[in-house]
Parts: sequence; structure tokens; C-alpha cells
Amino acid sequence: MKNRHRLSEFVEPYRVDKGKNFKLKDHDPGDTGGLSEEFKPTAIDLLQKSVHQLADFQDKLYAQDRWALLLIFQAMDAAGKDSTIKHVMSGINPQGCQVYSFKSPSTEELDHDFLWRSVSRVPERGRIGIFNRSYYEEVLVVRVHRNLLEAQHLPDELISKKIWQQRFEDINAYERYLTRNGVVIRKFFLNVSKAEQKKRFLARLDDPHKNWKFSEADLRERDCWKEYQDAYEDMIQNTATKHAPWFVVPADNKWFTRLVVGSVVADTLAGLNLKYPAVDAAKRKQLAEVRANLVEEK
Ligand code: ATP
Ligand code: MG
Repeated sequence: MKNRHRLSEFVEPYRVDKGKNFKLKDHDPGDTGGLSEEFKPTAIDLLQKSVHQLADFQDKLYAQDRWALLLIFQAMDAAGKDSTIKHVMSGINPQGCQVYSFKSPSTEELDHDFLWRSVSRVPERGRIGIFNRSYYEEVLVVRVHRNLLEAQHLPDELISKKIWQQRFEDINAYERYLTRNGVVIRKFFLNVSKAEQKKRFLARLDDPHKNWKFSEADLRERDCWKEYQDAYEDMIQNTATKHAPWFVVPADNKWFTRLVVGSVVADTLAGLNLKYPAVDAAKRKQLAEVRANLVEEK
């Protein structure tokens, strides 16, 4: 059974690159691609395979220094963003990877346009950048909690019912701009169910080693579950594009979440046709001379 599955099998079913008819209710958080719990050890092997592939691709990405890869993670609390990032990126060279966690904006950040703080965090060429939360919070938490929009001090005339639609447009334009500059974008929504979130919160309360992860603020967000689901659905409908697709990843089973994310990242890098920069004949001759001198060295 081990070698029958290909990583690409775990990519296409979760890709959303045309948002128009997207409905969150069509996506089951408990989906495991038809694979049973017994498949778990094979899934772990496959994830390991994707981690090895990733390390190899990353080395070439860095050497070639042309493309950058930006991975965006959005989810409700306890959906497993942090642990997914940790597992999927476990094999790669830390020097070629930049993880940035976006928290509530500072006073300085609030005094700027909403994309301002992200701009300088976009990965450099040759790197993989990870946004743990992102500018998408601007159409999620800020939409669910109106007081956060008020805290942004926008001129009154600019705040209307159209503001979310306008933000979607601006985000799409920004992502197109990045894509045209060699930044490949993949966006992940880790789709956890309300019941599974409850289980994970209880585990955080019951296990002393997990207590630190529990925050009462997370419970307040849970109270707004429906508003968040609506905001996520609208966000995906409006920002899923060919150049910057969303992946709606089932998140009730962590082994499956990791397998899907690992597969998407490996598949994306495979599609870039990465190669080590070629050395021309003159350079090869020069290297041969340097080598000969080094061998002769007294
Ligand atoms: P964890 O809880 O797993 O450590 P987290 O991503 O939930 O990770 P927190 O520090 O708990 O990290 O939360 C960050 C908070 O910052 C979230 O509640 C998020 O909604 C909020 N936030 C992020 N970006 C913005 C934004 N642009 N405007 C307002 N709030 C934001
Ligand atoms: Mg949190």
C-alpha cells in the first residue's frame, strides 16, 4: 500500500481557485480523503517523503535565487496552524525560511494602510516565507468585531458597506502584483469543526503541559463561530484565484492536515522546475585551475 499513493492526490481535491460557487458547508473538516485511521502510519511516511522533497527543492530555490514562495495560514484557534507549520517545515534549512506571526496591530501599524506591515515581511527571492495569520485578518477578525475597524482611524467617508468588497479587490490586486514579481502564493484555510475545537480546548485545560496554550480570548472568538464561518466563506469566494489559490484543508485530523499541506507545498515547488544554476565552460575551466592549485599547495 505504501507506494501506491502519490502526493498529488492530496492536492487537487482541496484547491479552490475559483471562488464564485464556493460553500464552506461542502467541505467536511473530518475528511481524510477516504482513508481510514489505519492509513495514519502510511500518511506519516508520505509526509516524511514530502519533507525530504521540500528540503531538496528549497536548496535549489535558494541557489537559483529567482522565485520566492509565500505560504499563508488562516484558521480558527486550535485548528493546528503552529503544529502544521512545525511538521511540514521540519526538514528545511532555517536560513532559507522565514516565519512571521501577525498579532494585533501596534499603534504605529494602525496609523498606516492595512497592507503596510506585510510588505516588508514578504519573503526575499530564494526563500520560503510563512505568514501565520496575515492581512486576511483584515476581512476576518476586523469584520467580526466592528470596534477593530473603528480603531483604524479611517476617514468616515471611506467606511461603507462596500469596505469588505474593496479590501478583497485590494488584496487580489496586491497578490497579482506579488505573483508578477516572482512571489508564488499558496493560501491555507485549516478547516476545523466546532466540536473538534471544543475537544482541543478541553485538552488544553486538562493537560498541565498545554495550559499555557489556553487563552480566554479564544473562547470569546468561539462565541462568534457563525460570524467567522460566514466571513471565511465570503473571503474565499472573493479571493480564490488561479494565481493565488486557497486550499481548504480538513483540520479535524492532524495527520491528514499535515499530509495535505506538505503535499501542496512539495507539488508547488515541483511545478517551478527549479535547477541549480548552470556553470558555463569558462567558469568550469577556472574552477579546474583553482582546484589544481589547491592540490599543489605547499
Ligand atoms: P496561538 O494562540 O496558537 O499562539 P494565535 O495566532 O492565535 O496563535 P495570538 O497571539 O493568540 O496568536 O493571537 C493573535 C491575535 O491577533 C488574533 O486574535 C488575531 O485575530 C489578532 N490579529 C491579527 N491580525 C490582526 C489585525 N490585522 N487586526 C486585528 N487583530 C489582528
Ligand atoms: Mg490565539
